[in-house]
Amino acid sequence: MSFRRDTITKPIFSWARGVLPPMSDTEREALEAGDVWWDADLFTGNPDWTKLLSNPPATLTEEEKAFLNGPVDELCAMLDDWKINWEWRDLPPEAWDYVKRQKFFGMIIPKEFGGLGFSPYAHSEVVRKISTRSLAAAVTVMVPNSLGPGELLMRFGTKEQQERWLPRLADGRDIPCFGLTSPEAGSDAASMIDSGIICKGTFEGNEVLGLKLNWHKRYITLGPVATLLGLAFKAYDPDHLVGSEEELGITVALIPTHLPGVSIGHRHLPAMQVFQNGPNWGKDVFIPLDYIIGGKERLGQGWKMLMTALAAGRGISLPSLSAAGAAFAARTTGAYARIREQFGISISKFEGIEEPLARIAATAYQLDAARRLTCAALNQGHHPAVISGIMKLHATERMRIAIDDAMDIHGGKAVIDGPQNYLGNLYRSVPVGITVEGANILTRNLIVFGQGAIRAHPYLLDEMNALRDDDRARGLEAFDKAFWAHVGHSFTTLFRALGRSWSFGLFAPAPDAGDATGFYRQLSRYSSAFALCADMALLTLGGALKRKEMLSARFGDVLSELYLLSAALKRWEEEGRQKEDFAALEYCMQAGFRTIENRLAEICANMPNRFVGWLLKFVVQPFGARVVGPSDRVVHQCAQLVLEPSAARERLTADLSHVDDDGGRARLEEAFVLVAATEDIAKRMHAARLHDPAEAVKKGIITQGEADRLAAAHEAVAKVIEVDDFAPEALSPIYKKSADVHQFFQERVARS
Ligand SMILES: Cc1cc2nc3c(=O)[nH]c(=O)nc-3n(C[C@H](O)[C@H](O)[C@H](O)COP(=O)(O)OP(=O)(O)OC[C@H]3O[C@@H](n4cnc5c(N)ncnc54)[C@H](O)[C@@H]3O)c2cc1C
Repeated sequence: MSFRRDTITKPIFSWARGVLPPMSDTEREALEAGDVWWDADLFTGNPDWTKLLSNPPATLTEEEKAFLNGPVDELCAMLDDWKINWEWRDLPPEAWDYVKRQKFFGMIIPKEFGGLGFSPYAHSEVVRKISTRSLAAAVTVMVPNSLGPGELLMRFGTKEQQERWLPRLADGRDIPCFGLTSPEAGSDAASMIDSGIICKGTFEGNEVLGLKLNWHKRYITLGPVATLLGLAFKAYDPDHLVGSEEELGITVALIPTHLPGVSIGHRHLPAMQVFQNGPNWGKDVFIPLDYIIGGKERLGQGWKMLMTALAAGRGISLPSLSAAGAAFAARTTGAYARIREQFGISISKFEGIEEPLARIAATAYQLDAARRLTCAALNQGHHPAVISGIMKLHATERMRIAIDDAMDIHGGKAVIDGPQNYLGNLYRSVPVGITVEGANILTRNLIVFGQGAIRAHPYLLDEMNALRDDDRARGLEAFDKAFWAHVGHSFTTLFRALGRSWSFGLFAPAPDAGDATGFYRQLSRYSSAFALCADMALLTLGGALKRKEMLSARFGDVLSELYLLSAALKRWEEEGRQKEDFAALEYCMQAGFRTIENRLAEICANMPNRFVGWLLKFVVQPFGARVVGPSDRVVHQCAQLVLEPSAARERLTADLSHVDDDGGRARLEEAFVLVAATEDIAKRMHAARLHDPAEAVKKGIITQGEADRLAAAHEAVAKVIEVDDFAPEALSPIYKKSADVHQFFQERVARS
């Protein structure tokens, strides 16, 4: 052993130490945040399916269920999304009171501090349901329960801080927000110039050691109404009042917004979404050191704290909103396609409509599967940073495609705004989800694989830690162990990938999962191909891989697909292998396999070391990318899932808000049920080439009762396809009265 270490490992260790790219503290802290879970299994190239399948599903307690069916439904009933967005530009005061009173802001705060103590899954379910009623309300409820003062205090706060602030946050006496982003520091938040200088000052009449803060933040959600601002800034100690270092690093503190020097700005209007969002500033704001979250000991540890908190929160909030958006699109678009007729038949009969409809249905299936699997991990106390990144990116990205598809299928009905348009606001909100909590391009190109390769790889982090060890002898010892284990792993992966790829995965490991067994085999095959390609890329590119963003993004896509498809398989098992849902599962698999094969082909074609590129192609894709995606049969079957009132449709779109209102959704549902129930009657008339129900009754083709049901269905459809129009003076103050409008136009015509 020592011979190997001293003769072979040592020169490799010395060379690698020299070429290992430097890593800033913030980069290291971001990489080390959270933990790994199923992503690590996927990275081994040989995932243990029994481990995935035996993982308990996320469930709700009786109390959580009662909250969803009680206060959440009541809140939804108070929300009129059209009025919220276009008239009030805010939630109504009674809704604000209600969310505070019912402790919606304290869902994740433990009961001992007056909160509801809900699990991540319950939090996700609440956000999901509210978002299908009003996005502004969902974001308002979501933000205090994700990254911000509440979560940071629970994880890092001192006992006194927790006792002082958490009860106030739980019952809404304090409204929190979190300020990280500033004009110059967006995606690269660590480059902020907001500062806190350690100095003495007077606070509440006493002279204490504290921080003098200056900042400019923007885009801050709940900022305009917040009473407690969680602020990230860089702390400096020029007079060495707490130690020898001058630059202490990113720090997070609590700033009551009534303090002198705090300016809460006006409101931003993000993509016409009216949740509270805006800039704020601080000019020489003085706080004592014990307003730092975690106290003085946490000076300079802010980035690590933020990254740790983000590792969990990113897996809940936006994925829940997105999964809900896709399910909502599936339910409404399927119903609309079924009831809307053109060229004498329902548009759902056209293959051109089936194609996007199937995509929406499969996305709804996929996203909710992944949301549930991720929540199960979070419920068990994991903080899977890589999986959270995958979820944030793919949930929002796929929701964007699903909503685009839904808009296209609805045509003018969803384009014309008004209270009867149930999709327009969701469509407008899409860029918000894409941009926040790590903008998607950055997350795809830099984070998913960049962080995944180091965190989820079985040996890489150990090797890097050994190389960076200040104690050279200890580092060499640890490196020797990790490096040779890595080499052994690489050879195993090479032969595994070769065998599985050349045999098309036919003999790859899989549990006995009935019709889905073959899918597991393919995922085992792709996982080994991915592990091999990733290893070779890391070996040949080393630290330079960080700058090869396009390559990194492709690896990230494969890892993401492996995770999302595992989640779909897990859902299929958990729901008792529902035969009717198989089309959705098959769609997800075929679409996912196509992406994986294409990305592997692109990786081989673009690997900078051409020999390695060719070698990888020979091993993992000897016959090229061969999967073409969902077949027309699968597309057709998948679209049918949302075109019939059925248990499959209910499973796919479960637990959305179903408040009866004027927004047209209840009318759509009613028309859908009536049309589906009268299809047989319509068919008989069609076969007899009759259009007039009265004549069909006379000829005995249908009964009077059936004619009445048909009339009711037609009437319901007519109401659904209605769109809104507005008096000109209701849209623009230029026109004061309708009479003036005609005069205005006539004068204009006369002038021209
Ligand atoms: C509605 C809304 C609410 C928000 N709420 C909050 C909040 O409550 N608190 C808070 O602190 N912040 C908040 N933010 C800020 C949000 O997190 C930032 O907008 C986000 O981090 C991106 O920063 P930016 O908008 O300045 O984009 P930029 O950083 O300017 O990025 C522009 C583009 O460049 C891409 N990019 C950047 N770097 C790279 C890279 N290395 N590789 C590839 N692509 C890259 C990005 O992905 C993006 O597409 C909010 C933003 C919005 C719009």
